Amino acid sequence: MQLLDGKITSDQIKEELKNKVEAIKAKGGKIPHLAAVLVGDSGAAVTYVNAKVKACELVGFKSTLVKLPDTISEADLLSKVAELNADKDIDGYIVQLPLPKHIDEHKVTEAISPDKDVDGFHPTSLGRMVLNLPTYLPATPYGIMQLLERNGIETAGKHCVVMGRSHIVGSPMSILMARNTNPGNATVTIVHSRTKNLKELTLQADILIVAIGKPEFVTADMVKEGAVVVDVGIHRIDDASKKSGFRLLGDVKFDEVAPKTSYISPVPGGVGPMTIASLLMNTLQAAALK
Ligand code: NAP
Repeated sequence: MQLLDGKITSDQIKEELKNKVEAIKAKGGKIPHLAAVLVGDSGAAVTYVNAKVKACELVGFKSTLVKLPDTISEADLLSKVAELNADKDIDGYIVQLPLPKHIDEHKVTEAISPDKDVDGFHPTSLGRMVLNLPTYLPATPYGIMQLLERNGIETAGKHCVVMGRSHIVGSPMSILMARNTNPGNATVTIVHSRTKNLKELTLQADILIVAIGKPEFVTADMVKEGAVVVDVGIHRIDDASKKSGFRLLGDVKFDEVAPKTSYISPVPGGVGPMTIASLLMNTLQAAALK
């Protein structure tokens, strides 16, 4: 078994981006600028946004954190989005999800200008992805594609089973793996909560990508010997023995599944850091297109 180490791979990407930013600076060009909108101050969202801002600083990007109260109205948030669309200095921005229940996430996502949509969630970005046209790929699936490519995982002709069909992970992941690209060209099966013969299908996977949001759901008996397993899940589990008071678990029961695999991504240190690296790659692309 080998680790698909997202920390190492994302560090390589960040180093490449840092060099590119230095080259832009040396030519007197515009430094890429990412903004992140954080509504409210719930634990996980704050951690994700802070990590994104920190990563921007590390590679030399400019970053702006827009903090808004969770009582903000949908109309006021949409005004903020319009402001960011019009801001010529900002190359790309994200609105961290989830949003408070009184705000329609789809409305907000659709209000983001597609040329600044570095999270890749806008219908235009997703449509262009399906058509294999240049676009911003959704950050987590893009990160997984990079993780596979940069670790030399062959995907063509393989049976890839994607567990989960969310708009931000499972569905775009299944499309990317089936596209006529490298990585890609896999035969893809997508499974979800209504799938009846789940284990029968996961046992056929040469590549199993798990994004269901259920801690340690995937056990060794569900995985084929030698499979490549990518674990997208992140769960904070209370743990008094840790300084932080919690530990992180994935959707895969790592200790028992890992020995059966050829490659497996850990949690933490797998897909999470790759998502941030993809966001940075999309931001550089947005800046280059200006
Ligand atoms: P989501 O929107 O909750 O979607 C979960 C998907 O899993 C749904 O399609 C659901 O099916 C399916 N599902 C649920 N229970 C199932 C079961 N027992 N068997 C088969 N399928 C099942 O989740 P998400 O946003 O895609 O996120 C998934 C996980 O990834 C979460 O733990 C999240 O925190 C994590 N995540 C990590 C990153 C990262 O950067 N590492 C980024 C995004 C998300 P239905 O459609 O039928 O309900």
